[in-house]
Amino acid sequence: GINSLLDFEKLEVLGHGNSGVVHKVCHRRNANVYALKVLRFDEKAVVVRQQAVQEAEILKRMDSPLIVKCHGVFSSGGDTESVGCDLCFVMEYMEAGSLHDVLLMHQRLPEQIISGIARRVLEGLHYLHSQQIVHRDIKPSNLLINNRGEIKIADFRVSGVVVGQLNSTPANDFCMGTRAYMSPERFDPERWDGDLSDGFAGDVWSLGLVVLECHVGRFPLVSPGQKPDWATLMCAICFGERMDMPETASPEFRSFVWRCLEKDWRKRGTVTELLSHPFVTKCWNTSSSGTKDLVGYALEGQLSFFFSLFSFGLF
Ligand code: ADP
Ligand code: MG
Repeated sequence: GINSLLDFEKLEVLGHGNSGVVHKVCHRRNANVYALKVLRFDEKAVVVRQQAVQEAEILKRMDSPLIVKCHGVFSSGGDTESVGCDLCFVMEYMEAGSLHDVLLMHQRLPEQIISGIARRVLEGLHYLHSQQIVHRDIKPSNLLINNRGEIKIADFRVSGVVVGQLNSTPANDFCMGTRAYMSPERFDPERWDGDLSDGFAGDVWSLGLVVLECHVGRFPLVSPGQKPDWATLMCAICFGERMDMPETASPEFRSFVWRCLEKDWRKRGTVTELLSHPFVTKCWNTSSSGTKDLVGYALEGQLSFFFSLFSFGLF
């Protein structure tokens, strides 16, 4: 079974989130490799833990090649009902890590790669939204890539609780924090949320920020010298000017980002609209020099999994 820590052998640490650690593990009997996320809960956080268990049940029902699969959830003390203060998620292992890791290594990505990322994430959001699920935590570290170059959406949060990030204290890495990719209506419900947004538009905002970050090579709302605190961030999100995209971006790309980063959620592009946006549907000329550059990178050995991004799923 997949319901006890004893079933797994820990191989290595894949990463740390705000409230837990993710291990690469091997199942002792079927020899499959998984990612195991262990969340630690404060003894007092019974309610929060209960919410996390509910979310885990929803996560387990998700069945799409666009979503990182959750195979099982248990407490190290036994089933999820036991009072143990941790919760273990057995997840599909994504060999090439997260888009955050890719951006740390390479800073900027070519447009045709970003277009492929946008299409996959929109398709994933389309699936989640059709299941009445708002993700609420779209950010580069929740977009994971496997060794076939396929990018998938991981984690999500319901009712303000994050699977994987249960406390909202600012993360060490500002851009990986829970709030950096939040839409204006979630910061300032009174101003923007008079008609009570259903939340779906918030995921589109976050995607807009992610694709922009892929292009400019850093979190786009706070300039490098700025102190990345809560107030700066909130001002940038709610009151900042519309982002001026660099001249290097194509007109389709600019238009796509503007449709995503429309501050008024009622006017923002919807997932369905954006799935047929020219930036996403554009047929990239694969013999263009941009593509050759990318293959060049791959051959240098620095971008071996990029090469597979290029050859397989992403466009
Ligand atoms: P966050 O999403 O805020 O980074 P998480 O606890 O969800 O926090 O994940 C921590 C890190 O572990 C991620 O940034 C990612 O690099 C890695 N990780 C998470 N899930 C997986 C997975 N299924 N496969 C491979 N690596 C993963
Ligand atoms: Mg995560």
